[in-house]
Amino acid sequence: MNLMSEQDTVSFGFEQVSPDEKVDRVKGVFRSVASKYDVMNDFMSAGIHRLWKHDTMNRVNPQPGERHLDVAGGTGELARAFLTLADAAGKRRGDGRKATAIVCDINDAMLEAGKARDDNAKWGDRLSWVCADGTALPYPDRSFDAVTISFGIRNFADRVAGLKEFRRVLKPGGRVAVLEFSQMTAPMLQKAYDTYSFNVIPEVGKLVTGDRDSYQYLVESIRQFPDQDAFKAEVESAGFSNVSVTNFSGGIAALHFGWAI
Ligand code: SAM
Repeated sequence: MNLMSEQDTVSFGFEQVSPDEKVDRVKGVFRSVASKYDVMNDFMSAGIHRLWKHDTMNRVNPQPGERHLDVAGGTGELARAFLTLADAAGKRRGDGRKATAIVCDINDAMLEAGKARDDNAKWGDRLSWVCADGTALPYPDRSFDAVTISFGIRNFADRVAGLKEFRRVLKPGGRVAVLEFSQMTAPMLQKAYDTYSFNVIPEVGKLVTGDRDSYQYLVESIRQFPDQDAFKAEVESAGFSNVSVTNFSGGIAALHFGWAI
């Protein structure tokens, strides 16, 4: 007999599971794909995810001396972008203060894949790696100037608990940027997108990583994610102000940007 009610369950792709099971199964997904994660991202999106991340970090507008936390940061792309842009801003203004960035992820395999990258060396101890759950961050209140998360919050068992943690660790005036797959705004393209998502991505995932199921989870979890307006309401409910939404590639992805005021 199944004693679990609807309220006790959360979506794992198209399945309903307990929150603890979702956490375990998400860990399994990313442990399985960690070593091929970056290459598979480029394959699936023809590199377009880099443009979305670039636009996201321009919006964050990193500044010299700031502290950045990238939650569910995986291999550390946003953290490196933050440091690069903060240094460029400092150079333009003759401000030599050094920004720092922390990549926080629940999965040590993803962090190890990120730590192995050659382009980390130049950052020294300005770039650090922490294994932790984004819904229970190991930092005091008001620790960071900017918190970012890209393609991570969809995997949380409790999104609003995560967003509240981001709010808690931000300093007053700090900003949050949440980049996530979203819902297409052009209905004409939906069919082609669905065909690509359900027929191509899992097969390419199998070829590149040897793991079809993880990419089946990816496409299912995207369909389960709330649309732009519903997710904006979640970000606001966590205490963020002036939340704006920017669609990328016709809503395939969207940036929700807000302020801790
Ligand atoms: N942010 C990176 C990027 O954009 O390339 C990685 C995104 S990857 C699709 C999702 C990441 O979320 C994985 O590294 C996974 O381990 C992490 N993750 C999932 N649930 C998490 C949680 N509750 N707390 C922290 N990280 C989590």
